[in-house]
Amino acid sequence: KYWDNNVNGSICLFQVMEEFNCQTIVFSSSASVYGSNHKNEIIESANISPINPYGHTKAAIEKILEGLYLSSSKKWRIANLRYFNPIGAHDSGLIGEDPNDQPNNLFPIICRVALGRYEKLKIYGNNWDTKDGTGVRDYIHVMDLAEAHLSALDYLLESKSKLITLNIGTGIATSVLDLVKRFIEINNCSIPYEFTKRRKGDSSFLVANNQLAISIINWKPKKNLDDMCRDGWKYYSKK
Ligand code: UDP
Repeated sequence: KYWDNNVNGSICLFQVMEEFNCQTIVFSSSASVYGSNHKNEIIESANISPINPYGHTKAAIEKILEGLYLSSSKKWRIANLRYFNPIGAHDSGLIGEDPNDQPNNLFPIICRVALGRYEKLKIYGNNWDTKDGTGVRDYIHVMDLAEAHLSALDYLLESKSKLITLNIGTGIATSVLDLVKRFIEINNCSIPYEFTKRRKGDSSFLVANNQLAISIINWKPKKNLDDMCRDGWKYYSKK
């Protein structure tokens, strides 16, 4: 399903873009292209070694885009943004993410537990090689991520043919327990949780080195974990 949606879908999109001479794209790539076994902040030149189908499809689309960029027409302007973990919502509380089916990502699950829609959060493993044994990620406010797109687009529109690949994260390492505790404190709610076994295809540590994005596209994240917890909950608790 991922290969069909992501890769076939992208190929169709790129064909139509060429047909209509629209050759500037900001592509939503993912930190999942980096795979597992990282202990430090990841730079863009790190090995591409995805460990799940989602990551493989994102890596494949980056390769296709590289092919277009290198093609003889030299017309493509491409920014691959490797998202780390976007969470939160628009600070109006009106725009956010509430998946129709069962979410797999941590933040919407935390919100559903806080609302009482789920009884408990299952934390996938407390024996990872991390500061508290739970998985570490680089959570970024979705509005900072949105701004990264605008900055990347402005940068491309001022360039001739160009291919840039940038990590979009805050560079701050947050464990599952850090996020849960922050969420409880900021939003004054309770999140019952239990530790369960590791999830298949999971990574222990994925944190960005975001210096390239900061230096190239005139962007930097402005919001912190408290903003992410507050804004995400504002959206969810209104529903
Ligand atoms: N996680 C968890 N319980 C859940 C969902 C996620 O403990 O119900 C953990 C997961 O193991 C990882 C972190 O939360 O360490 C972020 O997972 P998510 O799926 O949100 O992002 P991704 O793994 O794709 O970076």
